[in-house]
Amino acid sequence: MDFTEKTVLITGGSRGIGRATAQAFAGSGARVAINFRSDHDAARETIESLAGEGHFAVRADLSHAQAVEQMFKVVIGEFGRLDILINNAGIFKLHPITEVSYDEWQQVWRDTLDTNLIGAANACYCAVQHMIQAGSGRIINVSSRGAFRGEPDQPAYGASKAAMNAMGQSLAQALAPHNVFVGTVAPGFVETDMAKDWLEGDEGEQIRKQSPLHRVARPEEVARGILFLASEGTEFMTGAILDINGASYLRS
Ligand code: NAP
Repeated sequence: MDFTEKTVLITGGSRGIGRATAQAFAGSGARVAINFRSDHDAARETIESLAGEGHFAVRADLSHAQAVEQMFKVVIGEFGRLDILINNAGIFKLHPITEVSYDEWQQVWRDTLDTNLIGAANACYCAVQHMIQAGSGRIINVSSRGAFRGEPDQPAYGASKAAMNAMGQSLAQALAPHNVFVGTVAPGFVETDMAKDWLEGDEGEQIRKQSPLHRVARPEEVARGILFLASEGTEFMTGAILDINGASYLRS
């Protein structure tokens, strides 16, 4: 997969799946902008790890609409154009309905939807203004197996990802006439900070056994799926949701 001369913005690109995706795009010739919320050191380390030149980090809390708009001004100002948007940033907060207070319940739902869904929707809006003008573009959303399988202790997360899937399908239909294509990846558990507590805790072994491979995904494996959907020749896959879960949850 060759992304020479392409420009890419990866939200939540400072750690985990976003970092692996930035490394894969940079290794395939792209110029990469990574967005992060607060961890400057992780963002700097990621930028320093990228092959090639012209990469940079942009801080923005995606749960604020103005911050998203500002992030795009910086990215377009620096790159001149944006070919590929990866909506990867996300949060995963524990809030079992039987255990949390009503206040906490509301707060987690708002925080989760603001980042995982509305942040991604606003990023799509801002990117599309430029992509339509440029005559082409790609958007890849990072969803989750939890959208299909359920998230009993993180219901807002499961709902945010199910909504993200539906958003991707709708935008694929709306944007195909503009030569803008939209794909979604839906990973199961991945070895990142987000999943660390679960993978290192009592449930770790049980989680790994969900896959007949007896392990969870590596960030690089999810990155590969993202690059595939963003690559030339996959245009007719627009609207697709690609499972990356080691056969831990199969749907047909
Ligand atoms: P991670 O290691 O926790 O990294 C999250 C990234 O998102 C960080 O770069 C973080 O920046 C950024 N971020 C979080 N909230 C943000 C906000 N409001 N504005 C801007 N950036 C924000 O997560 P990950 O495991 O790589 O997950 C990446 C994506 O994959 C998420 O959408 C997640 O839901 C999805 N996913 C993960 C798994 C898994 O098991 N790990 C499974 C399925 C799907 P800071 O560090 O600066 O806060």
